[in-house]
Amino acid sequence: MLVSAKEMLEKAKAGHYAVGQFNINNLEWTKAILLTAEEMKSPVILGVSEGAGKYMCGYKTIVGMVEGMIEGLGITVPVALHLDHGSYEGAYKCIEAGFSSVMFDGSHYPIEENIAKTTELVKVCAQKGLSLEAEVGAIGGEEDGVIGGGEVADPEECKMIADLGVTMLAAGIGNIHGKYPANWAGLNFETLAAISEKVGKMPLVLHGGTGIPEDMIKKAISLGVSKINVNTECQLAFAAATRKYIEAGKDLEGKGFDPRKLLADGVKAIQETVREKITLFGSAGKA
Ligand SMILES: [Zn+2]
Repeated sequence: MLVSAKEMLEKAKAGHYAVGQFNINNLEWTKAILLTAEEMKSPVILGVSEGAGKYMCGYKTIVGMVEGMIEGLGITVPVALHLDHGSYEGAYKCIEAGFSSVMFDGSHYPIEENIAKTTELVKVCAQKGLSLEAEVGAIGGEEDGVIGGGEVADPEECKMIADLGVTMLAAGIGNIHGKYPANWAGLNFETLAAISEKVGKMPLVLHGGTGIPEDMIKKAISLGVSKINVNTECQLAFAAATRKYIEAGKDLEGKGFDPRKLLADGVKAIQETVREKITLFGSAGKA
């Protein structure tokens, strides 16, 4: 059964660790992440961007796949199915389709409009027992065409959104989606500390988890980050392993062209990445 991310993130915040949100793209991704979370007895959040939602033929398809897989694989750890960077319309579609958690990213709206739309979604999610993530201030890089300038959030605005009753809050602290540029300035811990102080117990979310040095991740967790989003890193690991398989000519040996063989090394690479992240975030054994 899918669960809201509320309880797992409140436990994480209190226990000074973070739960990973791993974005899914297809059956192989979902299976790799669920099996690894189960193996490590870690709670887990499956992230779905609107682009990935379209790719997987709509949110209902995804709910069916994930629920079926939890049952079929005998997954016992808490699993939240979460819309990543949802639009206002997308959030409603996911709520209707049976997601257990949504992010409404109103960071590109003026703060008044972000507050108005977030307020409305707080009510809807509360009625249905779903967790809701809100965002303040653009995060750098690009995700499905949403571009941000590596901005940092205003701690006052963070408090305004946190006070609306959202479950968790994403705030820009110099983080970027995708690969980090060589001249990246690093995470802005002063801002993170200021936000943490303003929002109290509210779990904070760090987007763009790929390529942030381990010491910065640990420091961010110590300053109140309880959910870390990982997407690109699994994609890079899957692509590298699949490239290696094909370049070695394994698809030409015997039945190596069978998709169950062709994609197997890529799946193992995703599992290895998820294992490393769960270990780094400290959520192993917390389910
Ligand atoms: Zn993000």
